[in-house]
Amino acid sequence: MERNINTKCIHLEEDPGNKNHYGAISFPIYQTATFAHPGVGMSTGYDYSRLQNPTREHLEKIVASLEGGIDALAFSTGMSAISALMELFKPGDHLIVDADLYGGSIRLFNSISSKNGIDFTSIDCCKEDVKKYITDKTKAIYIETPTNPMMNVTDIAAISKIAKEYKLMLIVDNTFLSPYFQNPLKLGADVVVHSGTKYLGGHNDTLAGFLVTSREDISEQLRFNIKTTGAGLAPFDSWLIMRGIKTLGVRMERAQSNAFKIAEWLENQKAVTKVIYPGLKTHPAHEIMCRQSRGFGAMLTFEVQSKEFALSILEKVQLIQYAESLGGVETLITYPTTQTHADVPEDVRLKNGITDCVLRLSVGIEDVDDLINDLSDAFKRTEEELYSGKES
Ligand SMILES: *Cc1c(COP(=O)(O)O)cnc(C)c1O
Repeated sequence: MERNINTKCIHLEEDPGNKNHYGAISFPIYQTATFAHPGVGMSTGYDYSRLQNPTREHLEKIVASLEGGIDALAFSTGMSAISALMELFKPGDHLIVDADLYGGSIRLFNSISSKNGIDFTSIDCCKEDVKKYITDKTKAIYIETPTNPMMNVTDIAAISKIAKEYKLMLIVDNTFLSPYFQNPLKLGADVVVHSGTKYLGGHNDTLAGFLVTSREDISEQLRFNIKTTGAGLAPFDSWLIMRGIKTLGVRMERAQSNAFKIAEWLENQKAVTKVIYPGLKTHPAHEIMCRQSRGFGAMLTFEVQSKEFALSILEKVQLIQYAESLGGVETLITYPTTQTHADVPEDVRLKNGITDCVLRLSVGIEDVDDLINDLSDAFKRTEEELYSGKES
């Protein structure tokens, strides 16, 4: 019988057991660059850590099992994983990519991959007819769902049908929901991307990235790539992510429950003009999310009445930290305009709805009443400061 995801986060099904590690419950950190050969032409299974290291391999197997892939590769960061993926394409190839993506992915595509001769068309994959943009050069569709930061949701099964019809690779960045809530490979995607820095690691203390695939041919190419270009995750960092994953389920559940309560609280604030959280019935893709995911995650975006208001909130929160990144136990607030999306051209940013009034919250696992009190206090003091003069 297939084990539940909460068990898979902690135990590897095909685990050879810990007999080889003196019974160690926690998988050992193989902090070694190289491995001695037992004889000429012989190998322990490991030769050099750029190629593979037992700690990294164990982590990769866990992530593959969580996503239901045949292989997962652990990279030093999410961006190095996406860069390795771009190596699968050659000059002249064309990719259709979501318009609202992680800012770093947009920067990579626009400034490095395009310089290498790869063409991109950015469209709202959740709204537009993808087929209209497919040419005979098109090789892949790259999406995030929900997107960062506007929380647009694409129907993965529907877009995978199109990808299969035109023999395109479907790539889904699954960072926002983590494998705990969503498994794109099971909905027809070919490759799943993760910034392991976020929910998988979960503690804002380690950078990592993953590529998970359901296809033998892609796995083979990526394995060649990681051993050749060398962006594999280091043994100690592999161990930290492994440790983070053990609590993925409890963290995701708690963060999601906090996010629900904060979203509802925000909806009742006069100064808030919009709350975007896929868990709310008012979210346009709530239904799709109910079909394709097991949860709604803990990322939410909201818009306040003015830029001054947004900036003041950033300065006045005390418990909530004003910082980039997401997916950790600490609640973080981000200003996409000058942080994650600073390098995105202004017209593109505004077209995607990322105005100067938009704030993003990565809800952590603190006590939700403390989080709401912190926001409430920041709102109150902002209102006093901005409007006190006008009342008299
Ligand atoms: C953070 C992030 C990345 C990049 O990951 P790094 O680990 O920071 O390199 C890619 N995609 C999404 C959705 C992210 O949030």
